[in-house]
Formats: sequence, structure tokens, C-alpha cells
Amino acid sequence: MEQTEKIYDVIVIGAGPGGMTAALYASRSNLSTLLLERGIPGGEMNNTAEVENYPGFKSILGPELAERMYESTMQFGAEHVYGDVKRIVVDGDYRIIEAGKKSYKTRAVIIATGSYHRKLGVPGEEQYNGRGVSYCAVCDGAFFKGKKLAVVGGGDSAVEEGTYLTQFADVNIVHRRDELRAQKIIQDRAFKNEKVSFTWDSFVEEIKGDGQKVTGVVIKNKNTNEITEKAVDGVFIYVGILPQSDAFRDLGITDEEGWIITNEHMETAIPGIFAIGDVRQKLLRQITTAVGDGGEAGNRAFAYIEDLHDRLAAAEAAAETAD
Ligand code: FAD
Ligand code: NAP
Repeated sequence: MEQTEKIYDVIVIGAGPGGMTAALYASRSNLSTLLLERGIPGGEMNNTAEVENYPGFKSILGPELAERMYESTMQFGAEHVYGDVKRIVVDGDYRIIEAGKKSYKTRAVIIATGSYHRKLGVPGEEQYNGRGVSYCAVCDGAFFKGKKLAVVGGGDSAVEEGTYLTQFADVNIVHRRDELRAQKIIQDRAFKNEKVSFTWDSFVEEIKGDGQKVTGVVIKNKNTNEITEKAVDGVFIYVGILPQSDAFRDLGITDEEGWIITNEHMETAIPGIFAIGDVRQKLLRQITTAVGDGGEAGNRAFAYIEDLHDRLAAAEAAAETAD
């Protein structure tokens, strides 16, 4: 593995709203900062149609907000390179970040790797993934003009993205309970939309296809056990999120589900390792909260590095006196 020569003050892993904000705060504090990202900067914002709860914009397209955040983040000298981080090794006061064939040395690291979509785990889901099964309305919605869609889930993502999909298609939201989990404003909009219908108390048990593409879903009502088959051309699955933290499990900083545990300053149990945004164990996962976490972590990383420098200088002075 090739280790880069430069020793960074801070390496931020993941360039979603949390990671970008952390990099902005760290670089603006004059810390040498590297942003490692394995995809396109923006994280989940790239998969979000419209954002209407980010202050400063009445409404803005997710990818546009991502681009604007990236531009403002990079103005203070942070570096950004591609990197798919597989491991962090603690080596005294250094943290070694392993990403593919490269490794990077840093004093502090901020983990901002977000979450990924939970799979439904039913027959047909894997087989028709990309051929009618999707987890991203913004990416795939336009392929379904004039068609019929099932959307699975009852949270913010299912109801908001389901409503977004009505500009292309008729949408049936299949939810396992008789009430939605989504925010009230998102629910109200869906209830008012004539192109959205609901199948309550029901599970999608199978996704059917003709070998090439999705043709329908098999739905079971949990109260009556009645099984029905509904003809649809696509299935959008939004049944929750899981932490993107496999690379950090051996550090012992996650809970049983893999969410990273921090205090209110975004510090994990290991000094110099911070975690922010959706990957962190917390209640409200939003762009605003990821950004807030990022600001706090950037700021605390600065304080941590100042302390580290003071400690090293004091140790050096003590060693010189002893000589
Ligand atoms: P993410 O945005 O998930 O970014 C994490 C980044 O880390 C990604 O770019 C990923 O590629 C990178 N990464 C992961 N692992 C690695 C690795 N090992 N190495 C390198 N890079 C890695 N919130 C709102 O406030 N308003 C909304 O309207 C809204 N709509 C949403 C719609 C949908 C469909 C979804 C799923 C979520 C929505 N949210 C919304 C929630 C919001 O998107 C998240 O809370 C927010 O993006 C979390 O930011 P983050 O920086 O923690 O992580
Ligand atoms: P979520 O809030 O966890 O909702 C998941 C939904 O899927 C729930 O309704 C759940 O049902 C259902 N579900 C879970 N497992 C299932 C299964 N095996 N079979 C069928 N249904 C299942 O996840 P999310 O909607 O993806 O939201 C993730 C995060 O992003 C949240 O923090 C959310 O607030 C945020 N977000 C915010 C916005 C916004 O602010 N505009 C938009 C999108 C997302 P139950 O309700 O019965 O548990």
C-alpha cells in the first residue's frame, strides 16, 4: 500500500452535507484538510428531488444544493480526492486512513459516511434491480412516464419521493401500517394528490417480472392475510436506512446496529476520531443536522489539534531539559 508523504491535520471521509461542512470549517481554520469521497460530492442530496427545509432556499433541487455546497466548501483550500475508505488504523497520535491502494496519515479524522438504503429482501428485488426496481426517484423516475408504480414504505422518503413520482406516473404507496411515519406536511401533500393512492396494512411479498422487467407486485394484507397481485411497471423501495460504517466496526465505536456513538461534540470514544451526520447514532437525520454536526466537528478538530501541538511541544521541551 502506497502511503502519501503529507501528514494532514484533518481527513474527512465522505462528502455529503456533513462532510463538506466539516471540511469547510477545518480548512477555514487553516488546518490542512483532505476530503475523501468514493462517489460524487453531495451524498444523499444527489438522490433527492426537492429540498424545502434547508434555510436560505424556499426550495432547491438536491443536486443543485450539493453543487453549491461543494463550491463554498472548496474555497478555503481543502483538497478533494477520490477514495473508498476501508479502514482506520490508530498509530499513536496519528490516524492512518486506508483507501484502496493508498493510505493517508492524519492527526484527526471526521467520519461522515452517511447511510445506505435498506433492502426489502423479497423475491424479485435483486433480479429486477435496475429493471423496474429502484431506490432513487430522481435518478429513475423519468423512465416511467405514463406508467403505474408501487412505492414501498411510509416514512419521509417513501411519501415525499412517491409524490414527486406523480409527475411521471400513477403511484400506489404500500405501507405496512395504517398510518404514515412521514412529516405531516409531506403526508398532507400526498393525501391531496389525486395520482397517489395507498394500500394500508400490507407488505409487498414478491416483485414479479417477465424475465426482462417488472410487471407487478404480490401484496399481502397483514389483517386479512388476503393476497393480491397488482400490475405495476416499477417498484420504488424506501424502507429505511442503515449506517455506512462497516469500515469502522473494528474500532469499537459503533452500537449493535452500526450507528457510530458520539458525544454532543461529535467525539467518539477514540481521541481524534469524530463522526457526524447520518452515520451517527441520533434521532433527526436531515441535511440541516448533518451540516450542524459538520460545523461542530470541524471546530472541535481544530481544538484537538491545538491541544495536540501544545502537548507535543511540552513533551519536546521536557525532553530537552532532561538532556
Ligand atoms: P450522506 O449525504 O449520506 O453522504 C455520505 C457520503 O459519504 C456519500 O457521498 C458517500 O458516497 C460517502 N461515503 C460513504 N462511505 C464511504 C467510504 N467508505 N469512503 C469514502 N466515501 C464514503 N433531508 C432533508 O433535510 N431534506 C430533504 O428533503 C431530504 N430528502 C431526502 C430524500 C431521500 C430519498 C433520502 C434518502 C434522504 C433525504 N434527506 C433529506 C436526508 C438527508 O439527505 C440526509 O440526512 C443527509 O444527506 C445526511 O448527510 P451526511 O453527510 O451525513 O451523509
Ligand atoms: P424511515 O423514516 O426509517 O422510514 C422507513 C419506512 O419504511 C417506515 O414507514 C417503515 O414502517 C417502513 N419499513 C421499514 N422496514 C420495512 C419492511 N421490511 N417492509 C415494509 N416497510 C418497512 O426511513 P426514510 O423514510 O428513508 O427516512 C430516512 C431519514 O431521512 C429519516 O431521518 C428522514 O427524516 C430523512 N428524510 C427527510 C426528508 C425531509 O426532511 N424532507 C425526506 C426524506 C428522508 P413503520 O413506519 O411501520 O416503521
